[in-house]
Amino acid sequence: VCPTAALTEVDNTRHVWNALANPEKHVVVQIAPAVRVAIGEMFDMAPGSITTGKIATALRRMGFDGVFDTDFSADLTIMEEATELIHRIQHNGTLPMLTSCCPAWVKFFEHQFPDLLDIPSTCKSPQIMFGAIAKTYYAEKKNLDPQNITVVSIMPCLAKKAESKRPELTKDENSNVDIVITTREFGRMMKSAGIDFPNLEDSDFDKLMGESTGASVIFGTTGGVIEAATRTAYEWITGEELENVDFVQLRGLEGIREATVTIGDMDLHIGIAHGLGNARKLLDEIRAGKSKFHAIEIMACPGGCIGGGGQPYHHGDMNIIRERQKAIYEEDKGKKRRKSHENEEIIKLYEEFLGEPYGQKAHDLLHTHYEAREKI
Ligand code: SF4
Repeated sequence: VCPTAALTEVDNTRHVWNALANPEKHVVVQIAPAVRVAIGEMFDMAPGSITTGKIATALRRMGFDGVFDTDFSADLTIMEEATELIHRIQHNGTLPMLTSCCPAWVKFFEHQFPDLLDIPSTCKSPQIMFGAIAKTYYAEKKNLDPQNITVVSIMPCLAKKAESKRPELTKDENSNVDIVITTREFGRMMKSAGIDFPNLEDSDFDKLMGESTGASVIFGTTGGVIEAATRTAYEWITGEELENVDFVQLRGLEGIREATVTIGDMDLHIGIAHGLGNARKLLDEIRAGKSKFHAIEIMACPGGCIGGGGQPYHHGDMNIIRERQKAIYEEDKGKKRRKSHENEEIIKLYEEFLGEPYGQKAHDLLHTHYEAREKI
């Protein structure tokens, strides 16, 4: 926070209220996994309170036409990312493959490691995949003109605002996110609307893009994306059911972690880093040709998105991050389905619209590329 208040955060709440007040707009909203375990702190609830059902109720009361979950598109990301990883392993592709759902991290490697642009996954982030599906599949299903759909994201993250404006992602304006607000902005909107958040009843997200598995919930914490991908890759590679989905060796809060997961006759070496200083160490190893990993997850914020820059302030208090992380794993555990490829709405999306994971249509809508950018 700027000590003299000369700088203030970009506030996009006015744009959301304007869209909601515009009768010509069909306004849909998505909420990221980490938001649900932190927003309660703005209403004096304990850190790590799980508020998923209250959020859905609040968004409906605010007037959104479709109340959806970024967890849905996190499951979609895993369908694409697990397929890409398997493809790279089986076809001598570039390894390690790096996760690409954190825009601060993506920007960092574009500036600092422009010689390694082929290592991150080409998957768009869950936020951006959601926009692409909302303005194509959802528009088709609801018989709506994509130009009349406004997609709002509620993110734990300030970098997600910039991500939604990336030229590579905005060239087709009919498949993108229109307005991004943070967890804090969402909390302020609820307060200004007089919503008594702690006492709201629970409700579910809307159908079509509202179902999610435990694998998508854990995207909210460091290690979660790669654990979700491992759950799916395991079953797809071995053809066997994964009975224990908890890869506890991938969890924790140490800045750099590593684990080996045996999948059939293969040992998958996985690296995890959160914080860009830690990421740099793993990247320097790759550049020097010394990396032993097949896959690496990197998140810019401490603890991953639960510690994101748009979350209620935690002032570096790792106890708060720990409580939020515990809540993420608790929500995962309580889910009926815990592997992304078992999400029935995702299965239907491929059957009715996308075709095969990593196929042509999926490539056009759900994948991107990276650009070397000037060093800063
Ligand atoms: Fe945003 Fe931080 Fe999450 Fe990266 S780790 S997506 S910067 S909140």
